[in-house]
Amino acid sequence: MNDIFNSGLLIYLLVGIGIFFLMREVVCWYWKVNETNSLLREILTELRKGNATISSTTTNQWECPDCQTLNPNSTYECTKCGLDLNK
Ligand SMILES: [Zn+2]
Repeated sequence: MNDIFNSGLLIYLLVGIGIFFLMREVVCWYWKVNETNSLLREILTELRKGNATISSTTTNQWECPDCQTLNPNSTYECTKCGLDLNK
């Protein structure tokens, strides 16, 4: 165990891991991965709201897209699986 500390291998490993996370951030920024991810989440939320609205116009209930449980229109959270339509 002492050999690892004395040889400086640990420092090389830590610097390597640091460079990896730094380059990961640069790559994610360049390819707009974070922006795309948040946009996709917004689209998913809007689609869920749209589907819930469409099904709630005919009945007083909306169907959960994950577990297909019928929930009352007064709530935005699924009573069975806890899916929140606002998130
Ligand atoms: Zn559910």
